[in-house]
Amino acid sequence: MKKALLLTLLSFSLAACSAGPFSAEEPEEEVPASSTVDDEEVKEKESPEADQETGTEEQTGEEGANEQKEEKVTEDGLIQVDKPESMTVVVNKNRKLPGEYVPPDLTVPDVPFYFNEDHPKKQMREEAARALEELFAAAEEDGLDLVAASGYRSYDRQKEIYERNVEIYGEEETNTFSAKPGTSEHQTGLAMDVTSAEMSFKLEQSFGNTAEGEWLAEHAHEHGFIIRYIKGMKEVTGYMYEPWHLRYVGEEYSTDVHEREVTLEEFFGYYPSDE
Ligand SMILES: [Zn+2]
Repeated sequence: MKKALLLTLLSFSLAACSAGPFSAEEPEEEVPASSTVDDEEVKEKESPEADQETGTEEQTGEEGANEQKEEKVTEDGLIQVDKPESMTVVVNKNRKLPGEYVPPDLTVPDVPFYFNEDHPKKQMREEAARALEELFAAAEEDGLDLVAASGYRSYDRQKEIYERNVEIYGEEETNTFSAKPGTSEHQTGLAMDVTSAEMSFKLEQSFGNTAEGEWLAEHAHEHGFIIRYIKGMKEVTGYMYEPWHLRYVGEEYSTDVHEREVTLEEFFGYYPSDE
């Protein structure tokens, strides 16, 4: 029965941040591709290949990579990043944040959100929040209408989701579709999912073809952001194309990453399989 359900869900295309197949109304809080969406049991069975060796030997790493090389492998086989507060920290399904890391300077950027109430997911790190405000202002000047959807997500929230899945499915099975706490980039406070009224505030790949999505792909780097999950790079990033997921890395690197058209993993010389 359970298998059948998972197989059914397999046929849906659920992205890392999207609300998944059951997201008709509004963008849910973003969750890693593999985990549940809020209180719903929306699942995508991760393709194991996502975590395998990419075979790419080329190292395009920059100085930032060296800063982060002294890292340890934890009991669960994941690498624990040693500089979680770095603007260039690389977090993915194999690289987790330490313990219950909470970014030190979370604040709510002064940009429009698709909802009005206070919510932790409105937050970002201070520097990223200021940059996001500039990005939104620039978009507005160009006649575009960006709307923020989901930023910071706590370790505890991810843990809650993950543990609920373990209760239901057992740990082994859960690990095949649910992100472990500490492995979501949203926990860094450097990510924000953005959408638009045209998208009915949903997080879907078609956003990349809208004026807002195209503008972001072209201009986000001017304000220190990159489109974190670019097309066709799931084997490297662990995620499908997500034109809505902005990651702040700072202007020192954003333009370079953009111009090289590489993932953050490639840029800094990390791969999901680096264990
Ligand atoms: Zn996201």
